[in-house]
Amino acid sequence: MLSEFDLIARYFTRPSRRFSPVTLGIGDDCALLSPPHGSQLAISSDMLVEGRHFFPGADPFQLGHKCLAVNLSDLAAMGAAPVAFTLALALPEANAEWLEPFSKGLLALADRHDCELMGGDTTKGPLNICITIFGQVPPDQSLRRDAARPGDDIWISGTLGDARLALAGYRNELPLDKDMLNAAAPRMHAPTPRVGLGVALRGIARAAIDISDGLVGDLGHILHRSGVGASLDADLLPAGAMLSAQSAELRRRFTLAGGDDYELCFTAPANRRDDVLAAGSLSSTPVTRVGSIEAAPGLRLRDADGKPLDLQLTSFDHFASP
Ligand code: ADP
Ligand code: MG
Repeated sequence: MLSEFDLIARYFTRPSRRFSPVTLGIGDDCALLSPPHGSQLAISSDMLVEGRHFFPGADPFQLGHKCLAVNLSDLAAMGAAPVAFTLALALPEANAEWLEPFSKGLLALADRHDCELMGGDTTKGPLNICITIFGQVPPDQSLRRDAARPGDDIWISGTLGDARLALAGYRNELPLDKDMLNAAAPRMHAPTPRVGLGVALRGIARAAIDISDGLVGDLGHILHRSGVGASLDADLLPAGAMLSAQSAELRRRFTLAGGDDYELCFTAPANRRDDVLAAGSLSSTPVTRVGSIEAAPGLRLRDADGKPLDLQLTSFDHFASP
Protein backbone atom coordinates (compact mmCIF):
# COMPACT_ATOMS: atom_id res chain seq x y z
CA MET A 1 0.00 0.00 0.00
CA LEU A 2 1.31 3.46 -0.89
CA SER A 3 1.74 6.05 1.85
CA GLU A 4 0.22 9.49 1.37
CA PHE A 5 3.66 10.95 0.66
CA ASP A 6 4.67 8.19 -1.79
CA LEU A 7 1.43 8.76 -3.62
CA ILE A 8 1.97 12.51 -3.95
CA ALA A 9 5.59 12.02 -5.01
CA ARG A 10 4.81 9.32 -7.55
CA TYR A 11 1.69 10.65 -9.25
CA PHE A 12 1.53 14.39 -8.71
CA THR A 13 5.04 15.80 -8.29
CA ARG A 14 7.04 16.80 -11.35
CA PRO A 15 10.28 18.70 -11.88
CA SER A 16 9.72 22.43 -11.50
CA ARG A 17 9.79 24.37 -14.71
CA ARG A 18 11.96 27.28 -15.61
CA PHE A 19 10.21 30.59 -16.26
CA SER A 20 7.14 29.44 -14.33
CA PRO A 21 5.10 31.87 -12.21
CA VAL A 22 5.07 29.04 -9.62
CA THR A 23 8.11 30.03 -7.54
CA LEU A 24 7.64 27.10 -5.15
CA GLY A 25 5.52 24.07 -5.96
CA ILE A 26 4.56 20.83 -4.20
CA GLY A 27 6.45 19.96 -1.00
CA ASP A 28 6.21 22.90 1.37
CA ASP A 29 3.42 24.20 3.58
CA CYS A 30 2.24 26.52 0.83
CA ALA A 31 3.00 27.02 -2.83
CA LEU A 32 4.36 30.41 -3.82
CA LEU A 33 2.94 32.05 -6.92
CA SER A 34 4.37 35.20 -8.48
CA PRO A 35 1.74 36.55 -10.87
CA PRO A 36 3.14 38.45 -13.84
CA HIS A 37 3.45 42.12 -13.06
CA GLY A 38 0.29 44.11 -13.70
CA SER A 39 -2.07 41.19 -14.30
CA GLN A 40 -5.06 40.21 -12.18
CA LEU A 41 -5.42 36.68 -10.83
CA ALA A 42 -8.63 34.87 -11.79
CA ILE A 43 -9.42 32.11 -9.24
CA SER A 44 -12.07 29.41 -9.34
CA SER A 45 -12.86 26.10 -7.57
CA ASP A 46 -14.92 23.17 -8.81
CA MET A 47 -15.65 19.98 -6.94
CA LEU A 48 -16.57 16.64 -8.51
CA VAL A 49 -18.30 14.16 -6.23
CA GLU A 50 -18.76 10.47 -7.06
CA GLY A 51 -22.40 9.59 -7.61
CA ARG A 52 -23.27 13.26 -8.03
CA HIS A 53 -21.09 14.53 -10.90
CA PHE A 54 -19.85 11.21 -12.25
CA PHE A 55 -20.95 7.60 -12.13
CA PRO A 56 -19.32 5.29 -9.56
CA GLY A 57 -16.57 3.36 -11.38
CA ALA A 58 -16.08 6.15 -13.98
CA ASP A 59 -12.99 5.81 -16.18
CA PRO A 60 -10.15 7.41 -14.16
CA PHE A 61 -8.27 8.86 -17.17
CA GLN A 62 -11.39 10.68 -18.37
CA LEU A 63 -12.16 11.77 -14.82
CA GLY A 64 -8.67 13.28 -14.48
CA HIS A 65 -9.29 15.18 -17.72
CA LYS A 66 -12.79 16.29 -16.78
CA CYS A 67 -12.06 17.63 -13.30
CA LEU A 68 -9.42 19.98 -14.71
CA ALA A 69 -11.43 20.75 -17.89
CA VAL A 70 -14.36 22.16 -15.91
CA ASN A 71 -11.98 24.46 -14.00
CA LEU A 72 -10.19 25.57 -17.19
CA SER A 73 -13.64 26.31 -18.61
CA ASP A 74 -14.26 28.82 -15.81
CA LEU A 75 -11.00 30.59 -16.66
CA ALA A 76 -12.03 30.63 -20.34
CA ALA A 77 -15.34 32.24 -19.40
CA MET A 78 -13.42 35.02 -17.67
CA GLY A 79 -10.98 35.57 -20.55
CA ALA A 80 -8.15 34.39 -18.27
CA ALA A 81 -5.07 32.37 -19.30
CA PRO A 82 -4.29 29.33 -17.10
CA VAL A 83 -1.32 29.56 -14.70
CA ALA A 84 -1.53 26.85 -12.01
CA PHE A 85 -3.89 24.77 -9.90
CA THR A 86 -4.21 22.85 -6.63
CA LEU A 87 -5.80 19.42 -6.23
CA ALA A 88 -7.66 18.31 -3.08
CA LEU A 89 -8.38 14.62 -3.32
CA ALA A 90 -10.37 12.30 -1.04
CA LEU A 91 -9.78 8.66 -2.04
CA PRO A 92 -11.28 5.45 -0.62
CA GLU A 93 -7.87 3.74 -1.06
CA ALA A 94 -4.42 4.47 -2.53
CA ASN A 95 -4.92 2.28 -5.57
CA ALA A 96 -2.23 2.50 -8.29
CA GLU A 97 -4.61 1.16 -10.94
CA TRP A 98 -6.80 4.19 -10.39
CA LEU A 99 -4.15 6.81 -9.55
CA GLU A 100 -1.94 6.14 -12.57
CA PRO A 101 -4.58 6.79 -15.27
CA PHE A 102 -6.22 9.57 -13.22
CA SER A 103 -2.97 11.53 -12.92
CA LYS A 104 -2.18 10.90 -16.61
CA GLY A 105 -5.54 12.29 -17.77
CA LEU A 106 -5.19 15.25 -15.43
CA LEU A 107 -1.58 16.15 -16.22
CA ALA A 108 -1.92 15.64 -19.99
CA LEU A 109 -4.59 18.36 -20.09
CA ALA A 110 -2.57 20.51 -17.66
CA ASP A 111 0.45 20.33 -19.98
CA ARG A 112 -1.65 21.23 -23.00
CA HIS A 113 -2.59 24.47 -21.25
CA ASP A 114 0.74 25.06 -19.56
CA CYS A 115 -1.00 24.95 -16.18
CA GLU A 116 1.13 23.66 -13.31
CA LEU A 117 -0.06 21.49 -10.41
CA MET A 118 1.41 23.46 -7.50
CA GLY A 119 -0.07 21.78 -4.42
CA GLY A 120 -3.08 20.20 -2.82
CA ASP A 121 -4.27 17.87 -0.11
CA THR A 122 -4.80 14.10 -0.02
CA THR A 123 -6.99 12.23 2.40
CA LYS A 124 -8.87 8.96 2.74
CA GLY A 125 -12.61 9.22 2.19
CA PRO A 126 -15.41 8.86 -0.37
CA LEU A 127 -14.07 9.78 -3.84
CA ASN A 128 -14.18 13.54 -4.13
CA ILE A 129 -12.01 15.73 -6.36
CA CYS A 130 -11.69 19.46 -5.81
CA ILE A 131 -9.50 21.68 -7.96
CA THR A 132 -8.76 25.35 -7.42
CA ILE A 133 -7.37 27.01 -10.51
CA PHE A 134 -5.46 30.26 -10.93
CA GLY A 135 -5.37 32.23 -14.18
CA GLN A 136 -4.21 35.65 -15.26
CA VAL A 137 -6.01 38.40 -17.12
CA PRO A 138 -5.04 42.01 -17.83
CA PRO A 139 -7.01 44.47 -15.66
CA ASP A 140 -10.22 45.67 -17.37
CA GLN A 141 -10.21 42.81 -19.89
CA SER A 142 -11.97 40.13 -17.87
CA LEU A 143 -15.28 38.92 -19.31
CA ARG A 144 -17.68 39.50 -16.42
CA ARG A 145 -21.28 38.37 -16.12
CA ASP A 146 -22.43 41.90 -15.30
CA ALA A 147 -21.08 43.49 -18.48
CA ALA A 148 -23.81 42.74 -21.09
CA ARG A 149 -25.50 45.80 -22.65
CA PRO A 150 -28.73 46.20 -24.67
CA GLY A 151 -27.90 45.85 -28.36
CA ASP A 152 -25.13 43.27 -27.79
CA ASP A 153 -25.24 40.11 -29.88
CA ILE A 154 -25.34 36.78 -28.05
CA TRP A 155 -22.90 34.13 -29.28
CA ILE A 156 -22.27 30.45 -28.52
CA SER A 157 -19.05 28.52 -29.11
CA GLY A 158 -19.06 24.99 -30.57
CA THR A 159 -22.22 22.95 -30.26
CA LEU A 160 -24.71 22.15 -27.51
CA GLY A 161 -26.68 19.17 -26.29
CA ASP A 162 -24.60 16.07 -27.08
CA ALA A 163 -23.48 15.68 -23.44
CA ARG A 164 -27.12 15.74 -22.37
CA LEU A 165 -27.99 13.30 -25.13
CA ALA A 166 -25.37 10.86 -23.83
CA LEU A 167 -26.76 11.21 -20.29
CA ALA A 168 -30.26 10.47 -21.63
CA GLY A 169 -28.83 7.34 -23.27
CA TYR A 170 -27.17 6.14 -20.04
CA ARG A 171 -30.35 6.78 -18.07
CA ASN A 172 -32.54 5.08 -20.70
CA GLU A 173 -34.65 8.20 -21.00
CA LEU A 174 -34.59 7.63 -24.76
CA PRO A 175 -33.98 4.65 -26.96
CA LEU A 176 -30.52 5.69 -28.16
CA ASP A 177 -28.64 3.20 -30.30
CA LYS A 178 -25.19 2.15 -29.16
CA ASP A 179 -23.20 3.88 -31.93
CA MET A 180 -25.04 7.12 -31.26
CA LEU A 181 -24.33 6.86 -27.52
CA ASN A 182 -20.64 6.08 -28.13
CA ALA A 183 -20.33 9.07 -30.45
CA ALA A 184 -22.02 11.48 -28.00
CA ALA A 185 -20.33 10.16 -24.83
CA PRO A 186 -16.98 12.02 -25.20
CA ARG A 187 -18.88 15.31 -24.96
CA MET A 188 -20.01 14.22 -21.49
CA HIS A 189 -16.81 12.55 -20.26
CA ALA A 190 -14.09 14.67 -21.84
CA PRO A 191 -15.26 18.24 -22.45
CA THR A 192 -13.01 20.70 -24.32
CA PRO A 193 -12.49 23.91 -22.34
CA ARG A 194 -12.58 26.94 -24.69
CA VAL A 195 -9.49 28.57 -23.24
CA GLY A 196 -8.08 29.88 -26.55
CA LEU A 197 -11.37 31.49 -27.48
CA GLY A 198 -11.77 33.13 -24.06
CA VAL A 199 -8.35 34.77 -24.37
CA ALA A 200 -8.95 35.77 -28.02
CA LEU A 201 -12.20 37.51 -26.99
CA ARG A 202 -10.44 39.92 -24.60
CA GLY A 203 -11.25 43.48 -25.58
CA ILE A 204 -13.96 42.26 -28.01
CA ALA A 205 -16.63 40.46 -25.96
CA ARG A 206 -18.34 42.12 -23.01
CA ALA A 207 -19.92 39.39 -20.84
CA ALA A 208 -19.29 35.65 -20.85
CA ILE A 209 -20.22 32.49 -18.96
CA ASP A 210 -19.45 28.84 -19.54
CA ILE A 211 -22.47 26.62 -20.07
CA SER A 212 -22.46 23.94 -17.41
CA ASP A 213 -26.08 23.84 -16.25
CA GLY A 214 -27.83 24.55 -19.58
CA LEU A 215 -27.91 27.64 -21.81
CA VAL A 216 -31.19 29.14 -20.54
CA GLY A 217 -30.11 29.02 -16.91
CA ASP A 218 -26.54 30.14 -17.53
CA LEU A 219 -27.49 32.98 -19.89
CA GLY A 220 -30.02 33.88 -17.18
CA HIS A 221 -27.08 34.59 -14.85
CA ILE A 222 -25.67 37.12 -17.34
CA LEU A 223 -29.09 38.75 -17.74
CA HIS A 224 -29.65 38.94 -14.00
CA ARG A 225 -26.20 40.31 -13.18
CA SER A 226 -26.29 42.79 -16.06
CA GLY A 227 -29.88 43.95 -15.40
CA VAL A 228 -30.98 43.24 -18.98
CA GLY A 229 -33.17 40.82 -20.98
CA ALA A 230 -32.68 38.93 -24.24
CA SER A 231 -34.22 37.29 -27.27
CA LEU A 232 -32.83 33.94 -28.40
CA ASP A 233 -33.38 32.26 -31.76
CA ALA A 234 -33.99 28.75 -30.45
CA ASP A 235 -33.75 27.15 -33.89
CA LEU A 236 -30.39 28.78 -34.67
CA LEU A 237 -28.69 27.13 -31.70
CA PRO A 238 -25.87 24.87 -32.92
CA ALA A 239 -26.78 21.28 -31.96
CA GLY A 240 -24.13 18.60 -31.45
CA ALA A 241 -23.54 16.16 -34.31
CA MET A 242 -25.54 13.37 -32.64
CA LEU A 243 -28.32 15.60 -31.34
CA SER A 244 -28.77 16.96 -34.89
CA ALA A 245 -30.12 13.55 -35.92
CA GLN A 246 -32.88 13.70 -33.26
CA SER A 247 -36.36 15.27 -33.37
CA ALA A 248 -36.76 19.06 -33.52
CA GLU A 249 -38.43 18.97 -30.10
CA LEU A 250 -35.48 17.17 -28.47
CA ARG A 251 -33.01 19.42 -30.27
CA ARG A 252 -34.65 22.49 -28.76
CA ARG A 253 -34.85 20.97 -25.30
CA PHE A 254 -31.25 19.77 -25.12
CA THR A 255 -29.63 22.81 -26.78
CA LEU A 256 -31.57 25.19 -24.53
CA ALA A 257 -31.37 23.30 -21.25
CA GLY A 258 -28.97 20.37 -21.65
CA GLY A 259 -26.08 20.93 -19.30
CA ASP A 260 -22.45 19.73 -19.16
CA ASP A 261 -21.64 21.41 -22.50
CA TYR A 262 -18.73 23.60 -21.33
CA GLU A 263 -19.17 25.89 -24.29
CA LEU A 264 -18.97 29.67 -23.89
CA CYS A 265 -22.01 31.92 -24.12
CA PHE A 266 -20.86 35.51 -24.57
CA THR A 267 -22.10 38.92 -25.64
CA ALA A 268 -20.36 41.45 -27.87
CA PRO A 269 -21.35 44.78 -29.42
CA ALA A 270 -23.03 44.32 -32.82
CA ASN A 271 -20.26 46.38 -34.49
CA ARG A 272 -17.66 43.78 -33.41
CA ARG A 273 -19.09 40.83 -35.41
CA ASP A 274 -16.04 40.55 -37.68
CA ASP A 275 -13.73 40.66 -34.66
CA VAL A 276 -15.69 37.88 -32.93
CA LEU A 277 -15.45 35.73 -36.07
CA ALA A 278 -11.70 36.44 -36.25
CA ALA A 279 -11.31 35.40 -32.58
CA GLY A 280 -13.14 32.17 -33.42
CA SER A 281 -10.79 31.45 -36.36
CA LEU A 282 -7.70 32.40 -34.38
CA SER A 283 -8.64 29.86 -31.69
CA SER A 284 -10.03 27.28 -34.16
CA THR A 285 -13.38 27.44 -32.37
CA PRO A 286 -16.68 27.71 -34.25
CA VAL A 287 -18.87 30.59 -33.02
CA THR A 288 -22.56 31.14 -33.82
CA ARG A 289 -24.67 34.26 -33.29
CA VAL A 290 -27.92 33.21 -31.63
CA GLY A 291 -29.74 36.28 -30.31
CA SER A 292 -29.48 39.71 -28.80
CA ILE A 293 -29.47 41.49 -25.47
CA GLU A 294 -32.41 43.82 -24.89
CA ALA A 295 -33.30 46.39 -22.24
CA ALA A 296 -36.63 44.70 -21.34
CA PRO A 297 -36.04 42.09 -18.61
CA GLY A 298 -36.75 38.40 -19.24
CA LEU A 299 -35.71 35.84 -21.84
CA ARG A 300 -37.78 35.56 -25.02
CA LEU A 301 -37.43 32.54 -27.29
CA ARG A 302 -38.20 32.70 -31.02
CA ASP A 303 -38.65 29.89 -33.56
CA ALA A 304 -37.19 29.84 -37.08
CA ASP A 305 -40.04 32.10 -38.34
CA GLY A 306 -39.45 34.63 -35.57
CA LYS A 307 -42.63 33.53 -33.73
CA PRO A 308 -42.54 33.45 -29.90
CA LEU A 309 -41.92 30.02 -28.38
CA ASP A 310 -43.32 29.13 -24.99
CA LEU A 311 -41.20 26.30 -23.57
CA GLN A 312 -41.05 25.33 -19.93
CA LEU A 313 -37.34 24.81 -19.33
CA THR A 314 -35.39 24.53 -16.13
CA SER A 315 -31.67 24.52 -15.62
CA PHE A 316 -29.84 22.08 -13.42
CA ASP A 317 -29.91 22.84 -9.69
CA HIS A 318 -28.27 20.50 -7.15
CA PHE A 319 -30.65 21.52 -4.38
CA ALA A 320 -33.91 21.63 -6.35
CA SER A 321 -36.33 18.80 -5.56
CA PRO A 322 -36.24 16.10 -8.27
P1 ADP B 1 0.25 19.89 5.15
O1 ADP B 1 -0.13 18.79 6.07
O2 ADP B 1 1.28 20.82 5.67
O3 ADP B 1 -0.95 20.59 4.59
P2 ADP B 1 0.49 17.84 3.24
O4 ADP B 1 1.16 16.74 3.96
O5 ADP B 1 -1.00 17.81 3.12
O6 ADP B 1 0.96 19.20 3.91
O7 ADP B 1 1.08 17.98 1.77
C1 ADP B 1 2.46 17.94 1.51
C2 ADP B 1 2.73 18.64 0.22
O8 ADP B 1 2.12 17.92 -0.85
C3 ADP B 1 2.15 20.07 0.16
O9 ADP B 1 3.05 20.87 -0.57
C4 ADP B 1 0.87 19.88 -0.62
O10 ADP B 1 0.53 21.05 -1.32
C5 ADP B 1 1.22 18.73 -1.54
N1 ADP B 1 0.04 17.88 -1.90
C6 ADP B 1 -0.72 17.15 -1.07
N2 ADP B 1 -1.68 16.49 -1.75
C7 ADP B 1 -1.52 16.82 -3.06
C8 ADP B 1 -2.19 16.48 -4.26
N3 ADP B 1 -3.26 15.67 -4.29
N4 ADP B 1 -1.74 17.03 -5.41
C9 ADP B 1 -0.71 17.88 -5.39
N5 ADP B 1 -0.02 18.23 -4.31
C10 ADP B 1 -0.42 17.72 -3.14
MG1 MG C 1 -2.52 19.09 3.93
